[in-house]
Amino acid sequence: MTDLRALLAPIHDLVQEQRVIVMLAEPDTYDTRPLDAMTRLLAAIEAVGALHKPEKRWEPYEGAGYTFLTREQALEAAGEEDLGAVAMEAGPQFFEVCAECARVESEQLSESGEEWGYREALWPCKTTETFAAALGSDTTNQEGTQ
Ligand SMILES: [Zn+2]
Repeated sequence: MTDLRALLAPIHDLVQEQRVIVMLAEPDTYDTRPLDAMTRLLAAIEAVGALHKPEKRWEPYEGAGYTFLTREQALEAAGEEDLGAVAMEAGPQFFEVCAECARVESEQLSESGEEWGYREALWPCKTTETFAAALGSDTTNQEGTQ
């Protein structure tokens, strides 16, 4: 699973639950620093997840070599091209890229004049995969020891 928000939700719930339990039990003596640190860590990972999210890129037809942000734009472009019947029947196709990695890749490569095609930005991106793998393995370890 690469949906960071979904992966973080159970951890978020645990932290909130733990905070309520300890505050009710010992409101004046409990040290909330560990929970505060966990809350900040969650916020940091969520901020990364808010940047690295999937976005669709529409091709007028499969293998067109150029894309649009919306299906409507791709449809319009397909209508302006003399396409084979098969391509027209299939209609616009989409694939997913990471919004942030695609932005960075397009900026870097357009500055250098190099041709680009979302080589490093296909969804899920490396950043998202890294977080998801770390979160996933934590969950597996917890389940394995209980
Ligand atoms: Zn990314």
